Amino acid sequence: MCLQNKLAFKNINIQPVEAAWLTAGTSLDVLRLDEIHPIVSGNKWFKLKYYLDDAAQKGFTEITTFGGAYSNHIVAAAFACREQGFACNGIIRGEKPATPGETLKNAASYNMKLVFLSRDEFKKQRQSTVTNGNTYVIDEGGYGILGAKGAAEILQFAPEVQNYTHIISATGTGTMLAGLINASSPHQHVKGISVLKNNFSIEDEVKALVLNDVPHGSYNIVHDFHFGGYAKHPAELLEFMREAWSNYSLPTDIVYTAKTLYAVKEMIVNHTLPTGARILMIHSGGLQGNTSLKPGVLPF
Ligand SMILES: *Cc1c(COP(=O)(O)O)cnc(C)c1O
Repeated sequence: MCLQNKLAFKNINIQPVEAAWLTAGTSLDVLRLDEIHPIVSGNKWFKLKYYLDDAAQKGFTEITTFGGAYSNHIVAAAFACREQGFACNGIIRGEKPATPGETLKNAASYNMKLVFLSRDEFKKQRQSTVTNGNTYVIDEGGYGILGAKGAAEILQFAPEVQNYTHIISATGTGTMLAGLINASSPHQHVKGISVLKNNFSIEDEVKALVLNDVPHGSYNIVHDFHFGGYAKHPAELLEFMREAWSNYSLPTDIVYTAKTLYAVKEMIVNHTLPTGARILMIHSGGLQGNTSLKPGVLPF
């Protein structure tokens, strides 16, 4: 069964953004991976693909993976496993919430078996991430070589990808960023906007997944736009999201893509990005995470 056919891959659009802050000659296009599927959107799915192939090839029928209660990875893994016929366990960080949010509800509705572990216990189990017995283990966020291999395919959905000088995406575990770097060309520069506060270990984590034997673009990781830390969303960020929606009809999520778009704007305004840059921003999805907000906070 081909999951790719079940998701609207042919409908991945490139959306040009015409913003007042774009300097003359500079352009910004957004690759709308969020449109793949309302829940299983964005990069997660690209990152899972080769793990599921590997698991099937090795004869596994069950997958186990890790994540938080609002994790886009958890819900994507639940869906992908169901579609590919795997049983699936989701190990969730922290005690079981009194009222589970949309993410956990959706994951459970896709037949994921949820196991809640205290933070300490979660950490211990995650660190012993070895495929044990009957279950094929995928690390939190799909971090790893096979995750990066899948993410490298994202750029195939951008027609005329060689025309871009800069490719910019959010980065959490660094898996998608490594894939984008591996798929980039030497004349391109790839920037990852880190959404975790002072997460400098990501430098080595990305390096570990970048292929040395293929020519690729230069890259760097930007640590200035985490807005206080993972999933932190101060009023200024929410206001920026409302503006992006009303000015360019671009929906963004509080954890990843709003911070990335904000970073693009700031780096254009402060000339970190050169005049004349032709920028491709990856909208990596994640809109389901906005369901953690109170209804009505965002107009989309
Ligand atoms: C998970 C996620 C990311 C981060 O991807 P990594 O490969 O972990 O760096 C970025 N954007 C969205 C919307 C995500 O859900």
